[in-house]
Amino acid sequence: MSIAKVEPLTTARALRGPFDYRLPEHFGDVGVGTVLLVPFGSRRVFGVVVDLAERSSLPPERLAEPVEALEAGAPPELIGLGLWVAREYCSTPARGLELVLPPGTASARGQIRARSESVVEATARAPAALESPAGLGRRQRRALEMLRDAGCELRSADLAAAGIGREVLRRLERRGLVRLGERQTQRRPAAARIGAPAARVRLDAAQRAAVERIVAAVDGDGGELLLHGVTGSGKTEVYLAAAEAALERGRGAIVLVPEIAMTPQALSRFDSRFGDRVAVLHSRLAAGQRRDEWHRLRCGEARICVGPRSAAFAPISGLGVIVCDEEHDPSYKQDGDPRYDAREVARRRAAEAGAVAVFGSATPRPESWCELERLELPRRVDGRPLPEVEVIDMRGRDGREGPLAPRTRAALGELREREGKGIVMVNRRGWSLHLSCRECGRVWRCVDCDVSLVLHRESGLHCHHCGHRERPPESCPACGSTTLARAGSGSERVERLLEELAAPLPVFRLDSDSAKRRDAHLEILREFEAAPSGLLVGTQMVAKGHDFPDVVLAVVIDADATLRFPDFRAEERTFALVAQLAGRSGRGERGGRVLVQTLAPGAAAIRHAAAHDAAGFLAGELERRRELGYPPFSHLIRVELAGVDPERLRAAAERLRAGLDRSLPAGAAALGPAPRFRLRGRERRQLLVKAGDRAAAVAAVRDVVDTAATARELRELRISVDVDAQ
Ligand code: ADP
Ligand code: ZN
Ligand code: ZN
Repeated sequence: MSIAKVEPLTTARALRGPFDYRLPEHFGDVGVGTVLLVPFGSRRVFGVVVDLAERSSLPPERLAEPVEALEAGAPPELIGLGLWVAREYCSTPARGLELVLPPGTASARGQIRARSESVVEATARAPAALESPAGLGRRQRRALEMLRDAGCELRSADLAAAGIGREVLRRLERRGLVRLGERQTQRRPAAARIGAPAARVRLDAAQRAAVERIVAAVDGDGGELLLHGVTGSGKTEVYLAAAEAALERGRGAIVLVPEIAMTPQALSRFDSRFGDRVAVLHSRLAAGQRRDEWHRLRCGEARICVGPRSAAFAPISGLGVIVCDEEHDPSYKQDGDPRYDAREVARRRAAEAGAVAVFGSATPRPESWCELERLELPRRVDGRPLPEVEVIDMRGRDGREGPLAPRTRAALGELREREGKGIVMVNRRGWSLHLSCRECGRVWRCVDCDVSLVLHRESGLHCHHCGHRERPPESCPACGSTTLARAGSGSERVERLLEELAAPLPVFRLDSDSAKRRDAHLEILREFEAAPSGLLVGTQMVAKGHDFPDVVLAVVIDADATLRFPDFRAEERTFALVAQLAGRSGRGERGGRVLVQTLAPGAAAIRHAAAHDAAGFLAGELERRRELGYPPFSHLIRVELAGVDPERLRAAAERLRAGLDRSLPAGAAALGPAPRFRLRGRERRQLLVKAGDRAAAVAAVRDVVDTAATARELRELRISVDVDAQ
């Protein structure tokens, strides 16, 4: 008898799988990674085969059989990885497994559908009908014209996008003017080209040395390497060469990039080098495209995957290289459950596949700096100098002068005269960050969260934590006064200021409001690139790895906004942001200038960033971390409880704390519970575990939380665990 051990794809924490099912003969080749539809209690659920066995500990009459097997499952070697993520980040097996399954498995049986799309073909009679179109409706005529212009065949989707629906096509079909059909396809996402064209370059000596070391590791036992290269030093060329070497050896490659706003540039460089051997995986792709890209990797047609953190789970067999570009970027940590860190997943995958993990950055994390072998690219390509950075002390300034220092205004004026290009980073989005009544001091806060509402120019007051919106007030509901004070400047307000100051130069805004629509970020970056002069203003998105050779000015409006976060990584973040933005300037022949406005000109993060001195910053930062016992000298696990009833919450938090005190291994300690600000109508408490031995501490926390999750009193509370909390 064959037994499949199945982990059901349900997220209930209290459920302990896997469960045994009997596999009848006709099920054919079911293996680890196969997705089955199985009876589960009175329901049917999807489940993943995590193991096969000869016999079960249950008597045969108690074993159910699966209903059916889905066509595509996960590669067996990734099942272990998914379960590892679940364990390591205190999540459930289902959540871990979903990461490695074909996209869309959990939501439906979507992936069974054949990969085809509807197409429309004009018949031989169509041209004549267009000659005398009297009997045709407006949309029918338009459809025929579009078909003619496209050389007789189009996808229905393209016609639908032009407002020509299925009924119109059916009418044309009945008249014998078009044929409707299906076509097998691979929906390749259009390669988005932006940034410098990817001509082959001759690697310089430092790049060659880095590539040689990486390739030696691929040929050897793999390992982990840090590629520390200043901005514009040609790291991407090193990744390209490493991926090429992997392919030559019959191995695959994964290239992780921080965010979707960054993917187009990286992707187009990989695309033009490797063509169809590259697949891209990210959440902004249409569902069908994502599935197709996944399958192209799964069947080996594509051997390189480029994408953000979820691409760490790309189904590539025989992995040779896995790159984490801009490894310092916080977006590698997933925000929701499972709160995995793609950089840790990369290390794990590399270790399992005997591949090499390459972490690249101009501003590496302290962890990588002290743990990994370093490959250095100390200079920009072509020996261009790093731009000069001026720190502007903003202390003692009157808020009414606005967010720009006189020196910044002057630099913008100069940019206007020279008709140059500049990038301006402002950390917050919206118009003004804080609205209050001048008479009585009332502050507009979110009804569900304890935070100020942010005023947006067109859409009113927003809560940036829960999405709550209100119409902007005309008067104060408390005292009736109509004099309201707006404080703090977000990206919208700075955009307006720049429009006034730099006119007629165009200003492009890039933040998550302006880039909401799919591909909008790409359009914005493209317009900025194509413009002969202008300003790009926005949040941290503008500091990412864009490579625009003609940017001559970079400005940081509020360099210390991140520094004020109550987080031990605040220094590291600030250093990275300022240094990265500085790196956007002066990549071309015209040189560059960088202005950093700050209330903390003496802070180590700002001083070292201004001096482009990563080594100096990291040495000091590691010293500080060692003294305070912060990572990498310890591991942090955050446990958060949220609930509506404050009394219950308090009791539960105390109980959890007591549980941790009993269970944590030696060398680990729990801190708290400490209150956190109310979010979405729920009070919150957090406990922090600081541990020397991460695995032992994670295991203890997992046990305590799993036990708590089944306890009655804790039913209405939400518990979330964040291992290596950021
Ligand atoms: P980084 O990722 O380190 O910021 P990139 O790899 O984006 O740097 O390189 C910056 C620019 O320099 C790109 O336009 C790239 O094509 C170009 N480049 C990289 N290496 C070389 C080289 N060896 N010779 C000439 N140009 C190069
Ligand atoms: Zn008032
Ligand atoms: Zn809110």
